[in-house]
Amino acid sequence: MDDPWQMHAENSPNCEYVLLGKPDEDVNALPFRTVVNLALRCATFSKYDNILEDIRILEESERENALYRDPYSRSLIEFRNATKFLTYEHRLESFESAKIDQKKVLKATSKKLAASGFYFTSKTFATCPFCLLSIDFQEIDDEWKEHQKNVECDFVKLDKKEESEWTPEEAMMLASRMWVMHKYASGLKLVAEFEKKEKEYYEFGERVNRMMAKPKCSTRRCSI
Ligand SMILES: [Zn+2]
Ligand SMILES: [Zn+2]
Repeated sequence: MDDPWQMHAENSPNCEYVLLGKPDEDVNALPFRTVVNLALRCATFSKYDNILEDIRILEESERENALYRDPYSRSLIEFRNATKFLTYEHRLESFESAKIDQKKVLKATSKKLAASGFYFTSKTFATCPFCLLSIDFQEIDDEWKEHQKNVECDFVKLDKKEESEWTPEEAMMLASRMWVMHKYASGLKLVAEFEKKEKEYYEFGERVNRMMAKPKCSTRRCSI
């Protein structure tokens, strides 16, 4: 196969760069958010590679050289904290304060939601930490069916709700994915913040412009 674009598309059909379509000459034509999205993806995926490398080194150092344990233990602790919702128990725990099981009107239960990959975010909303899908559990009948609509989610793709069935590689893949999404989400928050600020500055500029506009003098004889 000669065309590198074709190769990219066939080997990695889910890559966001591929999903954008074959690029034409004018990169500037891409919307701001798309560019930011791609940049964030790049940044988070390089983090993903680092983490896998950290863990490999950690595993080695645990066996061979306790001297290297500390910095890597630290990065592993950071990793563990960011991937807390990997386990069913932690996701279930997040629903505790919401007391949704006491609200008999809801079809959803915290156990079903946690088992379908969701943790509690706020009010009647729950989020999947693997794909960031957010659902209003007051509105849906079947949280797993709803989740399965997002075919890109690694938790959905793996289709093993029972953690004990995961191989170490699968657990690692899910944990790393969650870490990536965690970073990605905080990056998106920054972008939203930036866009808001930019809009505010723009509106402020418009106001100043209007204020500075030459006032029309109401007196007839005045030449201004
Ligand atoms: Zn790609
Ligand atoms: Zn998901």
